[in-house]
Amino acid sequence: MALVVQKFGGSSVADAASIQRVARRVVATKEAGNDVVVVVSAMGDTTDDLLDLAAQITDDAPAREMDILLTAGERISMAVLAMAIDKLGVKARSYTGQQAGLRTDTRYGKASIVGVVPERVSRAIKDGQVAIVAGFQGVNELNDVTTLGRGGSDTTAVALAAALQADVCEIYTDVDGLFTADPRIVPSARRIERITYEETLEMAAQGAKILHLRAVEYARRYKVPLHVRSSFSYKEGTWVTDAPVDAPAEEEAMEAPIISGVAHDRSQGKITVVGVPDVPGTAAHLFEVVAAADANIDMIVQNVSSGATGLTDISFTLPEADGPATLAAIEAARGQLRFTELRYDDQIGKLSLVGAGMRSHPGVSAKLFGALSAAGVNIEMISTSEIRISVVTRAQDLDPAVRAVHTAFDLDAEESEAVVYGGTGR
Ligand code: ASP
Ligand code: MG
Repeated sequence: MALVVQKFGGSSVADAASIQRVARRVVATKEAGNDVVVVVSAMGDTTDDLLDLAAQITDDAPAREMDILLTAGERISMAVLAMAIDKLGVKARSYTGQQAGLRTDTRYGKASIVGVVPERVSRAIKDGQVAIVAGFQGVNELNDVTTLGRGGSDTTAVALAAALQADVCEIYTDVDGLFTADPRIVPSARRIERITYEETLEMAAQGAKILHLRAVEYARRYKVPLHVRSSFSYKEGTWVTDAPVDAPAEEEAMEAPIISGVAHDRSQGKITVVGVPDVPGTAAHLFEVVAAADANIDMIVQNVSSGATGLTDISFTLPEADGPATLAAIEAARGQLRFTELRYDDQIGKLSLVGAGMRSHPGVSAKLFGALSAAGVNIEMISTSEIRISVVTRAQDLDPAVRAVHTAFDLDAEESEAVVYGGTGR
């Protein structure tokens, strides 16, 4: 008998009929002889609707109240799913994050899990019941409810799977798994059968939206096998584990692809600080100011200074949402930073090529740059990790760039495989 944690995203529980469909799936898993713990997201766009509602009242909602409001969405899902399962003749009990023992720190709106004590969930399992847990929420040391940040239900599921030592954490969404690129941009994108945590982390960090970044970090830390799949079909999805291929050694060498996928991100902006003194301490000072503004910066490029003036330019990328506050903070420090001009560009796109095979295969960057140049795409910035190469392009060049690179690395499927069943890709 296995213990299976199943997480259903908002598009899988969007209405009563979907909830009944999910209930049948949970019951089928249970009747196949497994213990089942279910984690649910809020129905459809409920979280957005609750945010809109609050925004009609105030643009400055107290964080604690905001979190209580937002946790309501998942509570609705858990209760109605429990009813739907009960109706099918299987005992189910729903639990809020607090009841399920998800303890977090006090950062409302973006709390981190500090401990999981799922006593009631364990007891429900022992009593032969299906336990249903509201995703995206926990309780802090003040006994107040907190939320884990948008998309946080994935993290709830992984944290419970780790605490319960589940055999697998199934993440149900409205596509058949992780793809070599976003099928909406690359119709010939292929489903990835197996991928490592490491590669998935790089993909998620670089804009692939199916899995919550923190959930993958958590899964890697506790070695929770993830199976990302569609709740609309019974097809195998994508397995995220430590070992890329569990095939025999010879086959592994043959089959392990060098590149796992191409991620893209349209949500970044670029700040350029023009004409700063090229002396020790300038970058340190600038990025202290940026850090104090709480900006999550990504790529950094410093120009070669022009010898005559002793001045240089520093550019970096950051989430567009962090742009205004960061610009204001730099502007406020103009006196000490002594730059001549501050520029902001939100018309950029970022393409990232990810694959563990890069470590052992030279020539990947040459091939990437070749493909971009053949497609007429200009590269503005480059950054690399051991298993990733990212480039910044003009926003309007991003889609053709992704397609060109996908083809150049032989990732195209013969026939299009991707079906988006729901509509959100979550
Ligand atoms: N309902 C929350 C959100 O929309 C959490 C989740 O879906 O994972 O962000
Ligand atoms: Mg969601």
